[in-house]
Amino acid sequence: MTDRSRLGEGPLREEVPAPLFIDPELCTGCNLCLEVCQVDLMLPHPEKGGPPILRYPEECWYEGSCVEVCPVPGAIRLVHPPANRVNWKLKESRS
Ligand code: SF4
Repeated sequence: MTDRSRLGEGPLREEVPAPLFIDPELCTGCNLCLEVCQVDLMLPHPEKGGPPILRYPEECWYEGSCVEVCPVPGAIRLVHPPANRVNWKLKESRS
């Protein structure tokens, strides 16, 4: 168990959840997501055609350009941390 008293209140590096999920079965390794990333959190896979590697997950802004640019539906998606998730509830309409 890690001694958190020496590390402050923030999350530990190894506890940062991955901000992206890349499906290795769907990803073609085109690296478009990697090229548009504003904070360069991915590295190309060492093998041609492999999915990018998340190198700096804690740097993600969740702005979603990687998802927008991906030509393969479902190959990449953002995984927002719980504090960023909003549950919308529609009001009943007045008629
Ligand atoms: S843009 Fe999509 S298909 Fe291309 S490397 Fe990224 S996740 Fe894979």
